[in-house]
Amino acid sequence: MKPPLLGKTLPEITEIVQTLSGRADQAIAISKWLYKKNEFNFDLIESISNTLRKSLDSSYSIGKYPPSKVTESKDKTRKYLFSNDTEQQFESVFMPSAKRNTLCISSQSGCRMGCKFCLTGKIGFKGNLSVLDIVNQFYSIPDYKDVNRLVIMGMGEPFDNFFEVKKAVEIFTSQWGLAFGASNITISTVGLLDPLKQFLENPFCNLAISLNNPISAERKELMPIENTNPISEVINLIKQSPLKKPLRLSFEYVALGGVNLYQQHAVGIIDQLKGVNCHLNIICWNSHNGSPYYTPSELELNSFISCLDKNGILASVRQSRGQDIGAACGQMAGNLLINNVCSM
Ligand code: SF4
Repeated sequence: MKPPLLGKTLPEITEIVQTLSGRADQAIAISKWLYKKNEFNFDLIESISNTLRKSLDSSYSIGKYPPSKVTESKDKTRKYLFSNDTEQQFESVFMPSAKRNTLCISSQSGCRMGCKFCLTGKIGFKGNLSVLDIVNQFYSIPDYKDVNRLVIMGMGEPFDNFFEVKKAVEIFTSQWGLAFGASNITISTVGLLDPLKQFLENPFCNLAISLNNPISAERKELMPIENTNPISEVINLIKQSPLKKPLRLSFEYVALGGVNLYQQHAVGIIDQLKGVNCHLNIICWNSHNGSPYYTPSELELNSFISCLDKNGILASVRQSRGQDIGAACGQMAGNLLINNVCSM
């Protein structure tokens, strides 16, 4: 099988082109053709010689592959299921709206973080996605031209596959790549401390931290990662190296009825996020069969938000999309749970 070009950075494409006796400026032309035009026929590349075109064609493939399944929700959200050459499955979700069109992409097949409320966590870790698998989720879908916001919040923990994700974002944001604004891309993490330190030294997009509970003992129950990477240390690191504009910091809070919306949770959030320039995104849990969690009542949610608001924490409730097709937060599991009994 010929190696793919999609997923290669400019220095990597330059090396390939030079090995085939081409020039560095031709590598830039190939990168732009690949990432800006999204063309998949070597014959269409302009500004390179016929000899280089033929050498590329005989030694490399483009590498783009289509989703194996598409499901559309009542609210027009579309979920794409992919299966790569090692048969790892993963999903991405396109959410069109009047204001913006968001594509949520995966960084791993499954996930090893084991968050209790998440179906992806339930299936366990199946493998890291390559840069090709990550960028292909954008380039292979029919809606790619409409996407104006990218979030790496699908299956997997992006900081657990840090270098592949970083390279993918480099392809999305570079002038030789897609030239997509870094402030329109958000990477979401549970807060793995080592990769977080590396990210904060040289931030390359917006950052979202999955908070979900400010009380350490309770967060351990929901998110086992709290045992080794406590949220207090995550927030300390962020306080030491705050993101600079135009990049933004947010915290994600899955609102679980009867679990994490009491006054002590609001107080914990106020204590931890005091003085941190950030926004709190609250995502209402959607009850589904077999889940021990339930959708919070309006009363629970309103009193929680009002307490945060009175204490200067900017919070908003994010609309959940694609619930009827299993595309909402915490529901992404590919086909991997079909034969399992979900006991969430
Ligand atoms: S919420 Fe995110 S980090 Fe946690 S198990 Fe699910 S995919 Fe992994």
